[in-house]
Amino acid sequence: MIKIANYIDGDLVPPKSSLYMDDVNPATAEVFAQIPLSNQDDLKAAINSANKAFPMWSKMSVEKRANYLMKISSLIKENLDQLAQAESQDTGKPLQLARVVDIPRASANMEFFAHAITQFSSESHSGKNSINYTLRRPVGLVACISPWNLPLYLFTWKIAPALAAGNCVIAKPSEITPYTAYLFSRLCIEAGLPKGVLNILHGQGPEIGNTIVESENIKAVSFTGGTTTGRRIAEISAPLFRKVSLELGGKNPALVFADCDLDKAVEGLVRASFTNQGEICLCASRIYIEKSIYEQFKGKFIDKVKALKVGAPDEQSSKMGALVSAQHLDKVRRYIAIAKEEGGRLLCGEEPIELEEKYKHGYFLRPHVFENLPNTCRTNQEEIFGPLVSLNVFQGEEEALLLANDSEYGLASSIWTNDLSKANRIADQIETGIVWINCWMNRDLRTPFGGMKNSGLGREGGLEALRFFTEPKNVCIEF
Ligand code: NAD
Repeated sequence: MIKIANYIDGDLVPPKSSLYMDDVNPATAEVFAQIPLSNQDDLKAAINSANKAFPMWSKMSVEKRANYLMKISSLIKENLDQLAQAESQDTGKPLQLARVVDIPRASANMEFFAHAITQFSSESHSGKNSINYTLRRPVGLVACISPWNLPLYLFTWKIAPALAAGNCVIAKPSEITPYTAYLFSRLCIEAGLPKGVLNILHGQGPEIGNTIVESENIKAVSFTGGTTTGRRIAEISAPLFRKVSLELGGKNPALVFADCDLDKAVEGLVRASFTNQGEICLCASRIYIEKSIYEQFKGKFIDKVKALKVGAPDEQSSKMGALVSAQHLDKVRRYIAIAKEEGGRLLCGEEPIELEEKYKHGYFLRPHVFENLPNTCRTNQEEIFGPLVSLNVFQGEEEALLLANDSEYGLASSIWTNDLSKANRIADQIETGIVWINCWMNRDLRTPFGGMKNSGLGREGGLEALRFFTEPKNVCIEF
């Protein structure tokens, strides 16, 4: 049994409470690790250590800080196999996906921000008899809190810019998938990261997560997770006038026009709907198809979805693994029942899954596709975050836009058409922070990343992240 440890003051340490919770492999439903249940005493030790480290880390040259990040990036690459295995074991996702997406991206995050900080510059404004320049200083002690769907990928996406900008970090991975964060802390030790610069506390969100957020020592919170949790973090942070970056839930529309490259749209939307079992905040969940090609799209889409292999995460041919937990599987199943009650017609999803004995108790679910649902129903309005999508009809650009924008969320969208003028008109008016035209999840780490409406506040990525993790101070000289 693996015993996960906190990473405080440069060491791997047990929780002060001596209490642990189970970490379950979702593909087998077996417990494989013990997760520390941290409390305010662990946080106190982490804060003391981070405060001691801050003067040294914040004043260190950017080149030196960048070197530490580069070293960690290289170690992630060197340990790709072990990290990918761990990620697949903890999340249920296909090993192949962890090998080609999750872990390479975690390494790329560290490398990207190592480079970015050496290129980061601040503004200057020259006037008639004065010049102003802006200093960008690290904020201080910051919290990075991440979810379970892309564990190391999102954990490093926050930690890398925070450290690069000279902050000391208290980080908390999801208690559902903490394993790679623990392995990451071992790599930080191997890289010689100075003690206290990064502290990783494990445990339950409403306990240690909440305790971190309530601490007045924390000067900024970068959070990715559910909208309800994000709202609570915003409420606690508002009276402290503390910076928050909130990357929250989504209910992402895809608009498929009659003039699209149909095969490309079908291929792209199968990926957009069911990659990582549909457990990506950017996944398409409401697909709107222009009436004249609806039946044609539907036929091709369903054929491809039925051919997706759901199975053992370590089998190369598996395109989908297990959902992350028994609770999450229950949640998605509840939505399948709701979709049926709402009049949805199930087009595929209930065919049996062939699994060997070892995986018989795993949380596997086939991709479900519904049609015939009104836009206002719960299935089309609420975030499900699993392998369930709806196919819907529209007529003309105006209706497509109305349906897409009829949502409390505004994270990502995709538009499928060969008419670039139309695509640009829609991109301008659609209420999402990210718009993909004829593609999905094509990511350039320099671009602003985040959502509108209930999908969040602020943007991550590139210079936006470095701006978030620094405090601007204007200096004016008169001459
Ligand atoms: P969650 O909100 O339950 O948990 C996210 C993190 O917050 C976890 O580490 C958890 O332990 C912690 N947490 C929970 N309650 C807390 C509290 N009261 N105070 C402080 N921390 C707390 O979300 P989840 O179920 O882990 O993740 C799924 C959600 O994340 C979905 O809504 C998904 O859309 C969203 N998500 C968004 C993005 C994005 O970039 N916008 C990316 C991935 C996932």
